[in-house]
Amino acid sequence: MTNQEYEILALNDKIGHYIRIRSLNKAKHFAVYRTFTKRFPNGKEVNADISEEIQDILVKSIKEKGITEGFILKFDENDNYSNFDEEKINPDEIRHISGNSEKSFTSTGAKLNAHWPIFHKLNETGFGSIIRATLTLHQVCSSRCQFCSTINRNKKDSTTFEETKEFIEKLYFDQAEYNKKYFSKYNDQYKKLTGSDIRLKGLILSGGGQPNLWPHFEKLVNWLSSLDIDIGLITNGFPKNIDDKIYDKFKWIRLSITPEDASPHYIDKKFNLQRIPQNIIDNKKTFFGLSYVYGPWTNDDILKRLSLSINKWNLDYIRMLTDCNLTRNEQLKSHNVLAEKLYKLSLIDKFGNNNGKIFHQLKFHGTEKEAEELWSEGKCYLQTYNVFWDTTGHETNGKSFCYPCDSVTVLAEENTRQQSKRGFDGNIWGTVTNDKVELLYKEKWKKFFDPRKHCSACLFMKNNKVVKDLTASSIQKLKQIKIDKDLEHINFP
Ligand code: SF4
Repeated sequence: MTNQEYEILALNDKIGHYIRIRSLNKAKHFAVYRTFTKRFPNGKEVNADISEEIQDILVKSIKEKGITEGFILKFDENDNYSNFDEEKINPDEIRHISGNSEKSFTSTGAKLNAHWPIFHKLNETGFGSIIRATLTLHQVCSSRCQFCSTINRNKKDSTTFEETKEFIEKLYFDQAEYNKKYFSKYNDQYKKLTGSDIRLKGLILSGGGQPNLWPHFEKLVNWLSSLDIDIGLITNGFPKNIDDKIYDKFKWIRLSITPEDASPHYIDKKFNLQRIPQNIIDNKKTFFGLSYVYGPWTNDDILKRLSLSINKWNLDYIRMLTDCNLTRNEQLKSHNVLAEKLYKLSLIDKFGNNNGKIFHQLKFHGTEKEAEELWSEGKCYLQTYNVFWDTTGHETNGKSFCYPCDSVTVLAEENTRQQSKRGFDGNIWGTVTNDKVELLYKEKWKKFFDPRKHCSACLFMKNNKVVKDLTASSIQKLKQIKIDKDLEHINFP
């Protein structure tokens, strides 16, 4: 494994010793690491501050194991830096139950039943139906998260309002017309089930961290609110330069809580002191949740303050997960540590059910064997209903690629020891460019790349499997589907 695309420096300042890792691509984004994880032979992990003695060991470890796993070091029972063999961990060993919160507020495949006619259409005709989209709009973010999945981004890769509007119009108006005209049988079935033609139902604005810093954000959201689309927002913070009223137009808002030394929004480096628009807290119609990535930067104080923010900010949920840049086995170990922490804090019960609004999302990479079984035709199933338009390359090419999912930036593969790319690579995972998005529903589902070759670490294998099964089901079976009425966010499957 090589790290030629990053500069790794051991430095110190008045706060203490740290490691700075800088991407060597055009924009040269960097992150500062002041903590690392100590792992002991019994599986216990402790997150600790980086000291002068440990700095060189860490640099060596990062060079060897990459910029994510390099921060996990092994220590013996006497707290000396050490080495020992470890067992692999099985997902079933982790204290976890997939409950209503995980199914509603994340993408597990559970909500796809509510859209079954599009898979019946796929089965009989071979044509996909794009009902969900996520747009980054630009690559601007003022945070410097250690787990950033797009550290290799270029700040100038931004889209215009017109390009964005045209993209959405094709998926909303044109797609509905197309289905009415050419696929009326399936369109009627879908209308009976959902009340609308087959077209875009849910749209997420996610940005390169902060979509609300995109210059046309308010204009776009105001226009979107005149359409019948559920809109979701994922952001790292709420800048003061736009009118807070705009947030009332969202179906849901998810605030990402970054490591506390990584955000300029946190007063005194405390996430709970950041500015949250009062209308978001008071609005009963908009779901408001937090997302937190567990890692070496986590301590019990942060977990306690996360818990306290539920009442203070009127939250609907807090989603906790681990760093997706880790390879499968390391990610599962991290999930295990997180689950045990949540259990000790009585946030989940002994089976893994959440006791309150904090839930654990057990999201982990797949394996090569699963990839071979799942994608017998060598095509990604998410491509048939979901589109993620990322603006990487827009400055140079005047257009940029769509992808079937956002996780192609974090496909850390254990078998090949390939580190996650931490950026979008349209030459591998790109489908169509934004100006041709209609081809995703006007042309038959086709192979742009083979997921067996490029996605064996896929984080959405369950979702792929659900689509595969729904597509293979008979109409009699599909008509018997009972849609779970407790699920929220049905239009973000
Ligand atoms: S990672 Fe999975 S969902 Fe994403 S493009 Fe590859 S196969 Fe599809």
